[in-house]
Amino acid sequence: MSESRDIEQVVIIGSGPAGWTAAIYAARADLSPLCLIGVPRTNPAPVLPGGQLMLTTEVENYPGFPEGISGPDMMQAFQKQAERFDARVRGVDVASCDFSSRPFRLTTSEGDVVQSNSVIIATGATANWIGLENELRLATSGGGVSACAVCDGALPIFREQPLAVVGGGDSAMEEASYLAKFASKVYVIHRRDSLRASRTMQDRVLSNEKIEVVWNSTVVDVLGEARIEAVTLEDTVTGAQSRLDVQGLFIAIGHTPATEFLEGSGVALDASGYVAVDGGSTRTNIEGVYAAGDVADAVYRQAITAAGMGCKAALDAERWLAEQ
Ligand code: NAP
Repeated sequence: MSESRDIEQVVIIGSGPAGWTAAIYAARADLSPLCLIGVPRTNPAPVLPGGQLMLTTEVENYPGFPEGISGPDMMQAFQKQAERFDARVRGVDVASCDFSSRPFRLTTSEGDVVQSNSVIIATGATANWIGLENELRLATSGGGVSACAVCDGALPIFREQPLAVVGGGDSAMEEASYLAKFASKVYVIHRRDSLRASRTMQDRVLSNEKIEVVWNSTVVDVLGEARIEAVTLEDTVTGAQSRLDVQGLFIAIGHTPATEFLEGSGVALDASGYVAVDGGSTRTNIEGVYAAGDVADAVYRQAITAAGMGCKAALDAERWLAEQ
């Protein structure tokens, strides 16, 4: 295993809006950040450098882009802006971290060790998918399958159309209520006969005339070539299959924060596996280690909130380094 003798001031792990914004701020503060942006993966679901936005066709809610911008174009622009200020970029994953003493030591997927005085974790969270071949095909080709209604639901293709949301938690309720503003009808497809969501969120959905809950059902196939036309449902009690015509499918069955590489590192996670940060800051339980974006935020999960947190993390790291 090779070990660089250089000690970085700040290493940023992850390359979504949080990571790139942290890189822009750290680079402009002359910290010459090293960005470890990950390597593309397709199994079991697509994960790309650039994160969730790489799977988003059109971003219409990021301020400053009145005509909208594609997710990949936006991430390319973020990277270009960070590189303009001399952020350095390596296409590797981090396999493990040792935060027991400083400088911190990060082992990359190429087997070398990167040493750094501070680290910003911005690895995001990946949406969980059901795992059906046609679901993933239509999700990655802009075919009307999405894991984020707030990102994609207001697009013209979904307006005044019948849509479906899969899941029974708060996210599914939130997405269904949001979609009901534009859709002609919203089906919430849930695998049991009672919802997991909080009472308030449930009430909002159950009292909305445009929303119908399809109980005890799972989606076992997604139909349509270039665009979704329908889903095949299976009744979890009787096993009977049926067809439900929809023009959009929103999967809201939870997210998985990308934190496997932190196992054994000493960084504290919350009960759902997200990196625990102190109050409104980006400080983790380890001095000099910060977290930003979806990896530390189970609630908002927006490009703009992740970017804001990335900015905070860079400022937190910069101030802490100055105090040392
Ligand atoms: P969640 O609470 O874990 O709910 C996931 C839902 O998806 C559950 O209903 C689950 O069914 C279902 N599910 C899981 N795997 C499935 C599969 N393979 N096929 C079909 N259904 C599946 O996730 P979440 O709704 O994303 O919420 C995550 C956290 O964020 C929660 O703590 C939530 O309270 C919070 N949150 C809060 C707000 C808010 O307050 N505004 C908004 C969004 C999220 P079962 O119920 O049968 O397990």
